[in-house]
Amino acid sequence: MEELTKVKFELERTKSELAILYEISNAMRTTLKLDEILYIILTGVTAHIGLGFNRAVLFLINEKDNLIEGKNAIGPESGEEANRVWKYVEQEKMDMEDLINAYKISDHVRESGFNQQIQHIKIPLLEQKKDLLSLCVLEGMPLHLTRETIQNYSHDQIIQFLKPEELVVVPLKAKDKVNGIILADNFITKKPITKDDLRMLIMLANQAGLAIENSQLYEKTLITAHQDSLTKLWNHGYFQYLLVVELERSKATATPLSLIMLDIDDFKIYNDSLGHQSGDMILKDIAALIKNQSRKMDYVCRYGGEEFAIILPYTDKKEAYLIAERLRENVAKYPFIKEEVQPNKTITASLGLSSFPENGSSASELISHSDRALYEAKHKGKNNTSG
Ligand code: GH3
Ligand code: MG
Ligand code: MG
Repeated sequence: MEELTKVKFELERTKSELAILYEISNAMRTTLKLDEILYIILTGVTAHIGLGFNRAVLFLINEKDNLIEGKNAIGPESGEEANRVWKYVEQEKMDMEDLINAYKISDHVRESGFNQQIQHIKIPLLEQKKDLLSLCVLEGMPLHLTRETIQNYSHDQIIQFLKPEELVVVPLKAKDKVNGIILADNFITKKPITKDDLRMLIMLANQAGLAIENSQLYEKTLITAHQDSLTKLWNHGYFQYLLVVELERSKATATPLSLIMLDIDDFKIYNDSLGHQSGDMILKDIAALIKNQSRKMDYVCRYGGEEFAIILPYTDKKEAYLIAERLRENVAKYPFIKEEVQPNKTITASLGLSSFPENGSSASELISHSDRALYEAKHKGKNNTSG
């Protein structure tokens, strides 16, 4: 009889494990966006209704630069925070879907100190270097560092950062190739990590590795399809799409957004004097200049011919104006090749600004406001910003 109870118990446990994995892998299939996939994976690892670890960190392998890069982390930074968050999740009866949606509409997780710190960690992936993460990538095997064995890694960068008492390190793989690593521990509750915990994490990691690869391939294709081939900036079609999406986000989060349109002054003269190929070189240089000047969150696009558009999320008119003016000054200062053929002996640009909410709440309203402002800037004598 005792045997039967044991079998029944095992069966129940397997059933609930399968249900958890099924739910997480279903969630992974709802999106191809890498940051969302990564968040879903970590939610699965840390949710009470998931694998229930206190903390989880995800690293991806950057093959190009041979680096192991911190991408995403979930977990409270203190017992106090843990209590607050866990209580809230329980009170609100949040299921996996609620937890995942919570990420899409709020910046709380992204802005958490833990998540941001992790994104600064970049570890060189070297064959001869036997740090914990390189080891996991090179061997492609999960590691369970117990309270005893973890001492051997006490000088490791990641151990010093996380200060875990016990830790599991699991590689993510796609077609037998490691493309990431998950670290998980029970930093707050100190609950020992069991064989079953590790087994579940390995199963989840197998799914996660494939989902990550899919999403990376998809994003690569997407980038090529949405890039302008001359300047490598976002093309017109994608600009229109981005503006709509970013406006939606601004509305949902009640944050401002600005749009800068930039048009090169008297560019026809440059082309007529030196030919279109020389003109194309200038377009490339200006594109690179704008890109270098802008922040990571800005979208720099080629609107058409010699017109560029920059979408500035979370940016009001005042701030956008300063950014536009700095950009205008830098274009004027930049030593473009043979720019002396221009009327003022130098290549300049004019800029037009618009901002949500004051100048409109749709993409087309913002574009036409920026257009009018640009026209005004040209009218004022070019090499000007208006808005
Ligand atoms: P304005 O100061 O009023 O802007 O004068 P503009 O001569 O720059 O006039 P406009 O903005 O209408 O720019 C049109 C010219 O830009 C026509 C063409 O010579 C040049 N142009 C547009 N697209 C390209 C391109 O893809 N490559 C090159 N080389 N030149 C382009
Ligand atoms: Mg133009
Ligand atoms: Mg022009």
